[in-house]
Amino acid sequence: MTNIARRDFVLGTGAAGLALAAPGFAIAQGRKKVVVVGGGIGGCTVASYVRMGDPSIEVTLIEPNKTYHTCFMSNEVIGGERKLESIAFGYDGLRKRGVNVVHDTVTGIDPAGRTVKTAGGGSYGYDRLVVAPGIEFKWTGIEGYDAAVAEKIPHAWKAGPQTALLRKQLEAMRDGGTVVICPPAAPFRCPPGPYERASLIAGYLKRHKPKSKVLIVDASTAFSKQGLFIEGWKALYGYGTPNALIEWVSGEQTERGIAKVDAAKLTVTTRFGDTHKADVLNLIPAQKAGKIATDAGLTGTGDWCPVDMATFESKIHKGIHVIGDASVASTMPKSGYAANSQAKVTAAAIVALLKGQQPGTPSYVNTCYSVVGKDYGISVANVYQLGQDDKGAQVIKAVSGGVSPANASAEFRRREVEYAHSWFANITHDVFG
Ligand SMILES: Cc1cc2nc3c(=O)[nH]c(=O)nc-3n(C[C@H](O)[C@H](O)[C@H](O)COP(=O)(O)OP(=O)(O)OC[C@H]3O[C@@H](n4cnc5c(N)ncnc54)[C@H](O)[C@@H]3O)c2cc1C
Repeated sequence: MTNIARRDFVLGTGAAGLALAAPGFAIAQGRKKVVVVGGGIGGCTVASYVRMGDPSIEVTLIEPNKTYHTCFMSNEVIGGERKLESIAFGYDGLRKRGVNVVHDTVTGIDPAGRTVKTAGGGSYGYDRLVVAPGIEFKWTGIEGYDAAVAEKIPHAWKAGPQTALLRKQLEAMRDGGTVVICPPAAPFRCPPGPYERASLIAGYLKRHKPKSKVLIVDASTAFSKQGLFIEGWKALYGYGTPNALIEWVSGEQTERGIAKVDAAKLTVTTRFGDTHKADVLNLIPAQKAGKIATDAGLTGTGDWCPVDMATFESKIHKGIHVIGDASVASTMPKSGYAANSQAKVTAAAIVALLKGQQPGTPSYVNTCYSVVGKDYGISVANVYQLGQDDKGAQVIKAVSGGVSPANASAEFRRREVEYAHSWFANITHDVFG
């Protein structure tokens, strides 16, 4: 029998309390229970879509924060194009959809007992669990860098206070300063994100501190939408000229990234041995699946969670699905739209499985817009299907799509920004209500 805190037991007499009972409770009541760990893009979507797919299922979503800041459009906040409040979302929309939202942190998962435990002392039984904790940072591997240093040298790779701090530092920077951005080696959340960030910071510098520049000191030798970014940087920021507002140091030149940080001097030293002095430093650390996924053994021996991509059920623990950035989803990038799409596939699978039915054959979608500057957007879009590689292993294959065309008209680029903003409005409505 699961240990239920007295407070939870009392709550158990009310509607919210339905989520707080032991595993057998829902079954005894004839209602199936789905618990979702993490109220980010993947978690909120799957919670809503399970409810929509079968309103008889009791869905509990556990998330510590009362406000979620989207990473998408956070680069516009950093570039001064929008306010932090415009990327902040609460959970009332989820509650209106019939999801029991609990603000707490999941500290343990018992796959055999089908229960999760929380820091607040709660215990939640489930028929199916979805784990969507996003990413955790790897604090090792760079001398002089750790979680405490990141409070002063923001990564801004989880949106919120870190986003505000980076923006504040840019505002305080002298004209003539250098903003150094250090992207990690792949795989990481939002492959085009560092380059969009460089673009929007360059846009801000062009308008307000034109003697300054952005230096990208990369761990990669190539990057997402590279040709389109460079075309935009040439058009807007003099890329490749002596007065360029953006310079890119490839992973070949750094010997694949940063070896050392001096937080007091604001310098980074590459593995090759070059040292770069920053006025504002944005070091984005390497990443792995959110801590709870690792703690629960869902990552196996790797950094990310292997899943059956037809249902996103863990290959390690039955009855647990892992979606979003934390999962290994073949060729799909670690993006919010991918998390949203995987969540819908998972919700449909869970609804079917809880009825004893066979899940359908999924397809998936991802679009990723990048705003390069005012009225200048680019994008990549793909529709995917489940397939097999040459050796018969499961893969998610892009079956149509591509990037926006090179040398497009100014009107085309302007519309891409409009589409980016309308995508933001649509997806946040879909996710948060
Ligand atoms: C700068 C930047 C720009 C981006 N731009 C785009 C874009 O334009 N388009 C796009 O599609 N994607 C974009 N992304 C990527 C996108 O934000 C992520 O891929 C997406 O958020 C992943 O969703 P998720 O549900 O896996 O994780 P998240 O959205 O991070 O949600 C994880 C949630 O789990 C919670 N959690 C963690 N551990 C626990 C626990 N133990 N108990 C309870 N809750 C827990 C966290 O608090 C968090 O709310 C961008 C990312 C960055 C950094």
